[in-house]
Amino acid sequence: MKKKKAPLRKCIGCGQQFSKKELVRIVKDKENNIAVDFLGKAHGRGAYVCPKEECIEKIRKSKALNRAFSMEVKNEIYDIIIDEIRKNVAK
Ligand SMILES: [Zn+2]
Repeated sequence: MKKKKAPLRKCIGCGQQFSKKELVRIVKDKENNIAVDFLGKAHGRGAYVCPKEECIEKIRKSKALNRAFSMEVKNEIYDIIIDEIRKNVAK
């Protein structure tokens, strides 16, 4: 029997591919609110990133979320993402 491959997603920070479970999804809703979607179930356009501060800092510098969401993503949003990841991801 063939093993089913877990779907891979690319981290927009480091550009490496991981299974969805290893990444966090950042989602933009209809009102253009950006949130971290730890369950991966929220509606809206999503982007995946490693739950690591270094990858968040990379996307802050490269403004990857601006491209992913076709909008200007404020600097505070990145702080919120880092904060959420610190609270939710055990080290
Ligand atoms: Zn990464």
